[in-house]
Amino acid sequence: MKAITCWNNLKTAMLSIQIYSGYYENEAKPSYMPPSMDTVIEGNYLEKKSYTICPLCGMEYRFVPYRTISDENASRYIPVLIDRIGCHAWHPIVPWQTVLPKTHVAFADGHVESLENLSCYMDIFRKYVGSLSKQNAEILKKYCMEWDNESH
Ligand SMILES: [Zn+2]
Repeated sequence: MKAITCWNNLKTAMLSIQIYSGYYENEAKPSYMPPSMDTVIEGNYLEKKSYTICPLCGMEYRFVPYRTISDENASRYIPVLIDRIGCHAWHPIVPWQTVLPKTHVAFADGHVESLENLSCYMDIFRKYVGSLSKQNAEILKKYCMEWDNESH
């Protein structure tokens, strides 16, 4: 159940980022991005802080503060909120069935994915760098490197 709650948290938190970013006003992809999740919470775009925390590992989702994504044409390949790498090692429906550790990621278009075979945050950078502008690629790289250093 915690994996499903995590999934819903990411959906809800990503939706609040989209609303902050004027996603629906433009009926296009979000343009400017919030500088932090705190900004989103303080602006009352997100009802509860708990939506920004994985119920399984208890850690806050990593947020990538891209400055803008208006120049990106593949918002479904832009990772924005990232759970702890390999947090979800159990099958969400059949808990006794072990599967490869998975990492939940919310993308700029609002969808959430369960990514397999990631060993560090930089793996996410390598996987999606091709869909990012140069400036945003630099931002994602900087944060992934920082997060990898923290966890070692
Ligand atoms: Zn989680």
